[in-house]
Amino acid sequence: MNDKYLQAIARYAEAHGGLRPAPRAVLFDMDGVLFDSMPLHARSWSEVCAKYGLPMRPLEAFMHEGRTGASTINILSQRHRHRDATPEEVAAIYADKCALFNTYPAAPKMAGAEQLLAKVRADGLTIVVVTGSGQATLLRRLQTNFPGFFAEHLVVSSKDVKHGKPDPEPYLMGLAKAGVAAHEALVVENAPLGVKAAHAAGIFTIAVNTGPLPPEALTEEGADLLLLSMQALAEAWPCLYHTLRQNTTLS
Ligand code: MG
Repeated sequence: MNDKYLQAIARYAEAHGGLRPAPRAVLFDMDGVLFDSMPLHARSWSEVCAKYGLPMRPLEAFMHEGRTGASTINILSQRHRHRDATPEEVAAIYADKCALFNTYPAAPKMAGAEQLLAKVRADGLTIVVVTGSGQATLLRRLQTNFPGFFAEHLVVSSKDVKHGKPDPEPYLMGLAKAGVAAHEALVVENAPLGVKAAHAAGIFTIAVNTGPLPPEALTEEGADLLLLSMQALAEAWPCLYHTLRQNTTLS
């Protein structure tokens, strides 16, 4: 038991008509959670957008993390050109961004991610990936770098949804694919907009601050718990899951 976890459960229940989290599935974001890929994404976004006359500092890319490529490009287009990008511009910029990303060294697996996945699987929970990415190389690497953890029918990518994060649609689709209700899932997210999407979907949201943003960027979007790394979450998992189970059973 842990007071911080008990308080988070109580706050969630208060906001959800008394329902306490009763986890049967864990929905994982991909970039910045399973792969330490965000610095490379930020760099490729920044370099490619500058080339197209749409400059963006790399730190801003961390704030946009989780959006679809089109949404990020339109924000920059509105800022610099006062109009949405055309579908052709979106396609060209996103293709260039993906191509540049693919010239970089492969993003490493996030430290602690595999340990956490192993513990979650050992506890019998369904594992789902919910990502705003359409980056095919990373989606393929889910299977090769984490063999046996991810079923293809339990992956939600940018190609599956109409509205990307911060809209709740990707997480609602993740719930549907897992066949569970919102209070029967947990989300692991590193991005403010991802936390916002998961919170809006009514899911108990664990933020892991693996990037350069201040922790408030995550807590202010509705994170139920905040940890400083995936390693920290992997270490905390047995106590957290035990606390969640105990409080589900007794309620
Ligand atoms: Mg992320």
